[in-house]
Amino acid sequence: MLDAVLLGVLVAAIAIGFGLGYRQALRRAWQTPPDPSEALSRDYFIGLNYLLNEQPDEAINTFIQALEVNSDTVDTHIALGKLFRTRGEADKAVNIHQNLLARPALSALQNEQVQLELARDFMALGLHDRAQRLLQQIDADSRHEAHRVTARRLLVDLFEREKDWQSALEVMQPLLEQQPDMQRAAAHWQCELAEQDVTQASRTLAQRRLKKALQFDARCVRANLLLAELAMDKGHYADAITRLGRIADQEKAHIPTMLPGLQRAYRNAGDEAGFERHLLALLEEAPYTSVIVTLGELTHRRDGVDVAIERTGERLGVAPSLGGLDYLLDLYVESQRLSGREPPDSRLFLLKHHTRALLENRPRYRCQRCGFSGDTLTWQCPSCRHWGSVKPITGVEGE
Ligand SMILES: [Zn+2]
Repeated sequence: MLDAVLLGVLVAAIAIGFGLGYRQALRRAWQTPPDPSEALSRDYFIGLNYLLNEQPDEAINTFIQALEVNSDTVDTHIALGKLFRTRGEADKAVNIHQNLLARPALSALQNEQVQLELARDFMALGLHDRAQRLLQQIDADSRHEAHRVTARRLLVDLFEREKDWQSALEVMQPLLEQQPDMQRAAAHWQCELAEQDVTQASRTLAQRRLKKALQFDARCVRANLLLAELAMDKGHYADAITRLGRIADQEKAHIPTMLPGLQRAYRNAGDEAGFERHLLALLEEAPYTSVIVTLGELTHRRDGVDVAIERTGERLGVAPSLGGLDYLLDLYVESQRLSGREPPDSRLFLLKHHTRALLENRPRYRCQRCGFSGDTLTWQCPSCRHWGSVKPITGVEGE
């Protein structure tokens, strides 16, 4: 597909160049003996010949040689470089961009544009030092704000790849007001640094960073999760419960993420009744499987398996799910075991076998932006690199 796009761009560019060259040649025929359109047309037909013989690489090389570098064709060269980079041939893109930079015909604006592209090529090739030097130079020297912003955003991308969160923050902090989409990322950089502080520096410093993260992005679930952990470590269970409670308002989809912490906080506080009330309130807002199962476990321990079956069955009637059904079957198996009936009903085991098989190998988390799915919660999507877009999968087949 990319080959087709690349060839389309080239054929169009050469055809236009051929047409222009031919017209100019006609106009100047009386004074200019060498006809530029001749060489152009020769390359054009050689390229076409390669194309017809299904040799796209040779065709592309011939077309590139035929495409003259001047201020009118810079954009075409840049587009070609981008296409090479996206199809994994960044080294070819470097050649195109370095070739462009060697031409005196470029304006200052075009020169910077090409340098930004070259920095992207270096990043794609893993040459981070060279990319960083180039970008820092553009950031320091450019008179065009848009180029400075692009250079900084690319620097941030580079620092993120190197997990250098402090440098990412320093580069982007002055621009956060104008770049609201970076505020969420900045909150996560603070969280990353806070996690380092917990193990390497001080908890007070970590706490300060996490509060800063919430100033950057009031919907940063991760900051509240970490603040709750810090509160719990100090034995401040009520604080931890308040922090975790806020997550339901920040992002309902993350209720399953905070539930184990919430359970631990209430347990440490010795307040099981409070936990049940909290769960019932959550159930009203978000009848997720994890909430229903946790409530079922509480009822099971306190009132016995049959009451748990009844309540869980009612709740699943309102919000059915495969995970909920699997748990209900566990309760039925337990009830049968307690009744001492012999032989046990094999149909229950068969059903349980099926729900297990259906639940196995299912991803638990999905990126809301690009659809990437996996078994662990990652705060930065490994595929689209967006922060905070990976969330637990809820619903009939979720959790
Ligand atoms: Zn994604």
